[in-house]
Amino acid sequence: MKYIAIIGAGSAGLFAAKKLSENQDFRITVFEKANKVATKLRASGGGKANILNADIQTRHYNNAEFMQRFLQKVNYEQIRDEFAQMGLKMSVDEEGRVYPSSFFSQTVVDVLLNNLGENVTIRCGFNVENVTKAEKKWQINDEKELFDEVIFASGTPAGIIPKNRRNFCSYLSDFQLKRTEFTPSLSGFKIKSYPKSLFGCKAKVKATLLRNGEPIFRENGEVVFKEDGISGIVILNLSAYYNRLDDKRNCEVSLNFLPDDDEYDVKNHLLKFHDVAGLVHPKLNRLFLQNRFNLRDFRLKIDDFYELEFAQVCHGGIEVTEITENFELKRFPHLYVVGEMLNIDGVCGGYNLFFAFASACCAANFINYGN
Ligand SMILES: Cc1cc2nc3c(=O)[nH]c(=O)nc-3n(C[C@H](O)[C@H](O)[C@H](O)COP(=O)(O)OP(=O)(O)OC[C@H]3O[C@@H](n4cnc5c(N)ncnc54)[C@H](O)[C@@H]3O)c2cc1C
Repeated sequence: MKYIAIIGAGSAGLFAAKKLSENQDFRITVFEKANKVATKLRASGGGKANILNADIQTRHYNNAEFMQRFLQKVNYEQIRDEFAQMGLKMSVDEEGRVYPSSFFSQTVVDVLLNNLGENVTIRCGFNVENVTKAEKKWQINDEKELFDEVIFASGTPAGIIPKNRRNFCSYLSDFQLKRTEFTPSLSGFKIKSYPKSLFGCKAKVKATLLRNGEPIFRENGEVVFKEDGISGIVILNLSAYYNRLDDKRNCEVSLNFLPDDDEYDVKNHLLKFHDVAGLVHPKLNRLFLQNRFNLRDFRLKIDDFYELEFAQVCHGGIEVTEITENFELKRFPHLYVVGEMLNIDGVCGGYNLFFAFASACCAANFINYGN
C-alpha cells in the first residue's frame, strides 16, 4: 500500500486525486485549507469554466521552452478524453475554447468528485503548515499517518483578498526552492491621467501593447472601462505580455475603435456629421467632442496592473528548473509540484486550467506507472 498526500483540493489537486485513485493500492488524502473544494475552478470563466483550449501552443505561455517539452508528454486531446471518460460533455467555441456543455463550472467539479475512488479522503478546513521528513517518509503538520509521496497543488494568491493571502505557501519555506515573486497576471491596467468619463463604457477594439512606442503584442477583443483603468479579456492578455517585460517603464496601450474597418474615412465622416456618434460608444463620442483623439490610436499610459485579488493567475512561483519532467522536485524525491504554483502562466482561453490538469495528470501517471 502506498500513502499519498495532495496539498490543495483545487483544479490540479482534484485531477491528480482522480487519476491516482484508479490504483487500488494507493490511499490518497487531499488536504484543503478552505471549507469547500475547488473555489477557483468554480469562479473560472465567469462561472462557466473555460477548462481547455483545442489550440494549445507554446506561445500562449510565459516559458515556451518548458512547454515545448511538456506538450510532448501530455496534450489537449489526452486531457479532453480524460474528462470525456469521466462523463463530462464539452462544447468548443470558434476560438477553440472548451467549456462544459452545461456552461456551469460546478459541473466540472461534480464530475471530478463523482469519479474519485473510495480510496480518496478529502479533508477540508486543513491548513498545511509543515511538510517534514520522518522515518524516510513525509509528515504533514503533526499528523500520525506518514506519506510515501506528496503532491504540492496549493495554487497562488491570484484572485484572493489580502487577509486570506497571509502566510501563503508557508510550508514551502524549509525547502528553499528557487522561486520568483508572485505578481498579478491577467489583471487589467490602472491608467495614468485616466479619462474617468469613460467608466462603464465597453468597446470592440484592436488593442496594442507598446513600450517606448514599439508594439509588443496586439489582439482584437472587447475593452471594459473601469473606474480607474481598463479590463476585458483582450486587456488581460496584454497584461500577461506586460508582465514578461524586464523593463516596464514607458508602456502604453493603443486602442483602435474601428478594428474591423481599416479603410473607413473618419475625416470625411467628420466633415459630414461633425461627431463620431454613429461610429463609437456614446461616451467615446462625448470625450471626442471635448478633446479630439485618433479613433484608431487612442493612447493610454499604463500606471500599474490591478492588485493580486483582481488577477486571474499569478506570474512567478517555483522555477521549473527545480522539477523533473515528471514534476518531481529534483532535490526532494517523492515530492511533486503541479499547477499554478509553478512559474508557468498562460493567457486567457483555458490555457491555465489545461496546465493545472495536465501537470497533475503527468505527476499522477509517474507515481502510478513510472512514466
Ligand atoms: C476569477 C478567475 C477566473 C478564471 N478563469 C479561468 C478560465 O476560464 N480558464 C482558465 O484556464 N483559467 C482560469 N482561471 C485560472 C485557473 O482557475 C487557475 O489557474 C487554476 O484553478 C489553478 O489551479 P491549481 O490547482 O494550481 O490552484 P487552485 O485551483 O487555486 O487550488 C489550490 C488549492 O489549494 C488550497 N490551499 C492553498 N494553500 C493551502 C495549504 N497551505 N493547505 C491546504 N490547502 C491549501 C487552496 O485553498 C485551493 O483550494 C481563473 C482564475 C480566476 C481567479
